[in-house]
Amino acid sequence: MRTETPVTIRLKDYQPPAYWIKNCALIIRIFANYTEVDSTLTMVRNGDPSELPALVLDGVEQLIQSLSFDGEAITDYDYQHDRLTVQPTQAEFTFNAVTHIFPNTNTSLEGLYKSGTMVCTQCEAEGFRKITFYLDRPDVMATFSTRIEADQAPFPILLANGNPTASGELEQGRHFATWDDPFAKPAYLFATVAGDLVRRDDAFTTASGRDISLRIFAEPHNAHKTEFALTALKKSMRWDEERFGREYDLDIFMIVASDFFNMGAMENKGLNIFNSAAVLATPETASDDRFERIEGIVAHEYFHNWSGNRVTCRDWFQLSLKEGFTVYRDAEFTSDLHDRAVKRIKDVLFLKNHQFPQDGGPNAHPVQPQEYIEINNFYTVTVYEKGAEIVGMLHTLLGDRPFRQACDLYFERFDGMAVTTDDFVDCMAQISGQDFSQFKRWYTQAGTPIVEIHEDYDANLARYRLSFTQSCPATPGQSDKQPLVIPVKMALLDSTGQALPIDCDGDYNADTQVLTLTEAVTTVTFQHLASQPTPSLFRDFSAPVRVRQALSDPALLLLAQHDDNAFNRFEAVQQVYLDTLLKLTRGELDAIPALVDTVVLSILSDTRLSHALQAVLLSLPSYQQMMDNLDTVDAEAVIVARDRLKLHLAQTYQSHWATLSQTLTSADDYVFTADEVGRRELQGLALYYWVLSGDKFGLNSAEALYRAAQNQTDRLNGLKAVMASPDRDRQQRLLVHFYRHWHQDTQMVETWLALQAGAEGVGVTDILLLMAHDAFDFTNPNKVRSVLGGFTQNFKAFHDIQGDGYNFMSEQIVALNAINPQVAARFVGVFERWRKFAPERSAAMHSALTAVLETESLSPDVLELVQKTLV
Ligand SMILES: [Zn+2]
Repeated sequence: MRTETPVTIRLKDYQPPAYWIKNCALIIRIFANYTEVDSTLTMVRNGDPSELPALVLDGVEQLIQSLSFDGEAITDYDYQHDRLTVQPTQAEFTFNAVTHIFPNTNTSLEGLYKSGTMVCTQCEAEGFRKITFYLDRPDVMATFSTRIEADQAPFPILLANGNPTASGELEQGRHFATWDDPFAKPAYLFATVAGDLVRRDDAFTTASGRDISLRIFAEPHNAHKTEFALTALKKSMRWDEERFGREYDLDIFMIVASDFFNMGAMENKGLNIFNSAAVLATPETASDDRFERIEGIVAHEYFHNWSGNRVTCRDWFQLSLKEGFTVYRDAEFTSDLHDRAVKRIKDVLFLKNHQFPQDGGPNAHPVQPQEYIEINNFYTVTVYEKGAEIVGMLHTLLGDRPFRQACDLYFERFDGMAVTTDDFVDCMAQISGQDFSQFKRWYTQAGTPIVEIHEDYDANLARYRLSFTQSCPATPGQSDKQPLVIPVKMALLDSTGQALPIDCDGDYNADTQVLTLTEAVTTVTFQHLASQPTPSLFRDFSAPVRVRQALSDPALLLLAQHDDNAFNRFEAVQQVYLDTLLKLTRGELDAIPALVDTVVLSILSDTRLSHALQAVLLSLPSYQQMMDNLDTVDAEAVIVARDRLKLHLAQTYQSHWATLSQTLTSADDYVFTADEVGRRELQGLALYYWVLSGDKFGLNSAEALYRAAQNQTDRLNGLKAVMASPDRDRQQRLLVHFYRHWHQDTQMVETWLALQAGAEGVGVTDILLLMAHDAFDFTNPNKVRSVLGGFTQNFKAFHDIQGDGYNFMSEQIVALNAINPQVAARFVGVFERWRKFAPERSAAMHSALTAVLETESLSPDVLELVQKTLV
């Protein structure tokens, strides 16, 4: 644990490094109790060669064996505060360091660490400094050669980045392998793996005819679960060639599955390392959403080979350069392969459930943050998902072809370089001829803009006016906000939902049907409209803004029933639900409004809708969205309101749910296609409502589905529906059955833990029991996320005022802080909205968080977030 005062790093202080590293030659000798790292850096002065400033290298917990310049031992050095300072005497030189590190006790899972029976790495953002001394910053790009030596028996497989060059036996049962990566890269993309791994092979021929070996490695107990990811990888490689003209470059591409991993996956050059949960799947053990997630993550990490690796970030303030762009790319991939409308709806829901609250809370920050203490804390939904929305807006503003041309220009111009988000946007500007200087505010201004819409129709003049007023609430450190460039995809609908021809004298592009707002207030006039149209605005969520628009019930109903833009139809339906939920919460309603029933019936009876779309249209807004739309949250009222509407839907449409659930049953073999995923999703939802309605036939049907299931999706649909019933005995029987059958499967055990932590009626005592179970492991992030993540996302359980959820989580954060600061810091977020709650809860959350702050030796990760959250 670092004990010195954390340092704030600021974008405005960026300086190029005083030295470059041209090549890094590593010899990694793995022994039972320690690892020896022998690193030779070929370096050159960046700047005036007659002036040689001190060389300051990053290095954490390095046990120095020897240091030398060009073979001459260095005796005069200073190593403190994670920095090694030495004085070069030449402008070009080699620097060698031999150090010892201790992977077995490295529970932070950064640098080189033990995961199950293997040893692997995680270097992004600043893990490489835990392996050896280095200029650990992304603008220092070097070629790497790696030699790994280890005992043959426990570590028959030895991997690193690049292409394999040699391997062979050594004395005393040891062996070695060497790898060479010819593409210069920052150290955060370094990877090595040693273990007893089983591999699955495949091959891919690139568009230009090069043959690439594809290999996925997993520990023996997971070896049967790698086929799906391999197929996803091949689809990703082809898609990136076709959509973005990007071909793979090395001779081999490898993925390794690790049971101990802080994040989802890591795009190390040619050697991706994945959290097991984000790569391993069989129909028997993974549900549809897991398959979808895995396909998306495999694609995401592969796409980084260009958007991130070949063109990388100059500094960590540019993180969205690679992440926002790559999230955008993987979303396009999934949309092309599956159901574009449903993918868009789910992505926007994620943004609204997670990023909007972040933007409205104490940790609001721009997509390009201006400062940080711990960069690990900035792997956020703002940098990733809002960053992806920015790229999506650029696409909308440019159109398909120019956007592709601008991406081509970006990849060609900056190949092999470390650049900035400005460089990216400048390519868009150059190709389109548009001025994007105002647009760039999306990167620097935090907060979710609000767009208020007013309409005015003059029947005599057949004239319709829309006025848009944009504003953005103050965020920490940013009180003064400037207008943004906001693209509004739109249509005007007649009373049957048909789009009307548009005759407009404003700044309006009739081809793309996109209005571009640039001022605080924009008014657009439409002519020759014989009757008042219904506006369908921000189609496909064309900008990440909060829309404030007072629509009449008939207008809302028209959009909810007839808008041919599926996303806007969804938005209208959600608005109907949300208005009802908010009114119920405030005690403003005696009965559920008829509008809700009209909308639900029209969805249930609309046979043109895909099953997947029906399922999302029949799902209620989350607690998060309700909270987001309330000034002060009375948790009981929120819970009662949502339960009431849910029960109303369950009971009113009981026969529909029963019929749907039965007719959607299929005994066919599992296939992962958009149609089949949609069918299973709607069936799961129908079954859930059917059980919730109190019909015991529903409950029996749910148990029957669980017991007969041939795949995980059906099994969980059955089990989750049973968990929605008050029949505790039945739930226990099925949970015991589940564990007995699947306790040897890591992913199934994680699912089993999460199901219980997220169950109705669970309390701190139950969570403690789960944590005392043999299946739990406090050093394993997936297990911790299953139990503590499941609990904190369980709104009723976590916010139960009779319970002790807040203090319990405060204690868990402190305990995790000592083991794995990154994972601990993630859980600080559960207190992010403490100010939103009514006084009693607000005070309880505040005191729980204060208790964390009063702990000694907090990591910078946790300290930074707790301090910000409490302000
Ligand atoms: Zn990424």
